[in-house]
Amino acid sequence: TRKRFENKVAVITGAASGIGAATARLLAREGAHVVLADLNDNGGASIAADLGATAMAIKCDVSSAADIEALIKAAVDRHGRIDILFNNAGIGSFGTSVEIQPAEWERVIAVDLHSVYYACHFAIPHMPRGGAIVNTASISGMGGDYRFAAYNAAKGAVINYTRALAVDHARDGIRVNALCPGLVVTPITAGAQQLPGLKEEWESRIPLGRAAQPEEMASVVAFLASEDASYVTGTIMVADGGTTAH
Ligand code: NAD
Repeated sequence: TRKRFENKVAVITGAASGIGAATARLLAREGAHVVLADLNDNGGASIAADLGATAMAIKCDVSSAADIEALIKAAVDRHGRIDILFNNAGIGSFGTSVEIQPAEWERVIAVDLHSVYYACHFAIPHMPRGGAIVNTASISGMGGDYRFAAYNAAKGAVINYTRALAVDHARDGIRVNALCPGLVVTPITAGAQQLPGLKEEWESRIPLGRAAQPEEMASVVAFLASEDASYVTGTIMVADGGTTAH
């Protein structure tokens, strides 16, 4: 196997599950020292346990600036710098703007959007030239879905914020890109996929005819985070099996 991340330090949020866990595994396999962060599983401790001696897990609520500051400090205390930041933790939310209550709106924006700013604010001063940031947005940030108002708002903002970060930090040698997954088989979507007919209806709208596995997102994140993408910044990378192509 290739070792694109030998001795690179990678901080990954939402690393206890799904896309974040798959990415932590891939980056570690290619040589990275990974710092996993999550609200669950003590920060992703059970994933970290499989990823070698330098992997560590930090319990953290990404919607808290203080938690993110502590996460970045722990990573820098341990490794001296951060080469790769994968802002991936996120939550969904169901409802129109009338149905959804203010507290839920604020929670979704805090977890899905404010978290990205907090991590960039605290991490970028510790990122050397050659550093890379990847933000998990969604194809739900590119248009409206029925009754996904808060999520559509948050992910749309992550997309344009990614462009702002890319512009501001290009001269620092830091590249910033967003991943827009389509439907991925993870716990976030598992519930909905149990509902009669919904899985089939969703898959009927995907030209490739199936949902993605988390590993198929991790491989895209790894590309964006690696030197293979040395001239790629400010890009919104869609990996949706063709969903938004029609
Ligand atoms: P997942 O539920 O498997 O993983 C998300 C992880 O984020 C979980 O481990 C959860 O504990 C963690 N998390 C949630 N809130 C947190 C908080 N406040 N602080 C710290 N950690 C928190 O889901 P996933 O599908 O792997 O989701 C990863 C990202 O991908 C999310 O940003 C999601 O919006 C996005 N996404 C997913 C899909 C999909 O179909 N699964 C599609 C588009 C975008």
